[in-house]
Amino acid sequence: MRDVAIEAVSLRKVYGTDQHAVVALDDVSISIRKGEFFTLLGPSGCGKTTLLKMIAGFETPSEGNILLNGHDITEQPPNRRPVNTVFQSYALFPHLTVRQNVGFGLSMLGRPAAEIDEVVNRALGLVKLEAMADRKPQQLSGGQQQRVALARALAPSPEVLLLDEPLSALDLKLRKEMQTELKRLQLELGITFIFVTHDQEEALTMSDRIAVMSSGNLLQVGTPKEIYNHPVNRFVADFIGETNFIPAQVAGTTATIGGDIALPVDPASPQGSHTLAVRPEHIRIVPSGAEATLRALITESVYFGTDSHVRLRLANDIELVARFQSDEAGGDAPPVDTEVGLIFAPGALQVLED
Ligand code: ATP
Repeated sequence: MRDVAIEAVSLRKVYGTDQHAVVALDDVSISIRKGEFFTLLGPSGCGKTTLLKMIAGFETPSEGNILLNGHDITEQPPNRRPVNTVFQSYALFPHLTVRQNVGFGLSMLGRPAAEIDEVVNRALGLVKLEAMADRKPQQLSGGQQQRVALARALAPSPEVLLLDEPLSALDLKLRKEMQTELKRLQLELGITFIFVTHDQEEALTMSDRIAVMSSGNLLQVGTPKEIYNHPVNRFVADFIGETNFIPAQVAGTTATIGGDIALPVDPASPQGSHTLAVRPEHIRIVPSGAEATLRALITESVYFGTDSHVRLRLANDIELVARFQSDEAGGDAPPVDTEVGLIFAPGALQVLED
């Protein structure tokens, strides 16, 4: 357990009273490792912010405990926890300069001016804002304001940094830049980052591990690859990227779809009536004469630059979407009404528990 930074044990949070009670978290247990970039991912209202607030100490659990480095901190006030938060809204003081904003927490703690100067300079250096130290927040761009908020949260050297949708107010280009920047900072500082987002792509590209949440429950915790390639259920598969869902009857290593098409699946797959999931990019389209698992007809093809998004119809009218990699295959996707063969990448056919 020495490598665990934050542990949530059977956390439950109910807002409001009996008649209007909202269960924001329903028995959530989770272990977040030291130095990990850990992401809470889920749709609006699933309880991400509530969990973050409990780790910060801004909300108390209705039941359960929060541990930091193995010590119970459930009753500890926020300012006694070595945890800091970067909010979506930045929450900068408009009348203070960048330097004063970043040093604010340390001034409140009554630290000597020389120490504050040193810490602030270091924090501004980390986010590359030394040149803006004497500006006020309104004289900065959105991205720069976000960096100030980040420097302010990093200045007291927290053990854990909580980031609540910190990039959602930025435009796409800046958002991508800040994603790289955040990842660099986290690797450089070795601090545990707990990052909240509802953007699956952001979660996949930035995280060491992701926890997928829905309606106050934790559905799956795993690396981006585990979550993407082995979603535990339909919600996770659907939330993270595009997926084909096909009703199937599973017996042994065979999943039968549409009554008569047999496909090979993992022997450990759940048996009986289930949903078969396959990612579009795990389906390879080959010429109709080539050896293939299935035959299909192309019914739609849309060019997207690096690949084409192709819609296919199987013999028994089941529809699938797939990707045709232009560069890999050295040409354009076959036109509509062409008969083609389909090959599934190893492990591509997942039987979901639903
Ligand atoms: P978002 O992505 O929209 O911020 P979230 O996943 O962070 O959503 P929470 O803010 O944790 O979700 O909210 C979880 C549930 O608890 C929601 O149904 C929300 O309406 C409810 N909730 C949150 N705070 C309160 C509160 N102070 N009083 C009553 N209900 C609340």
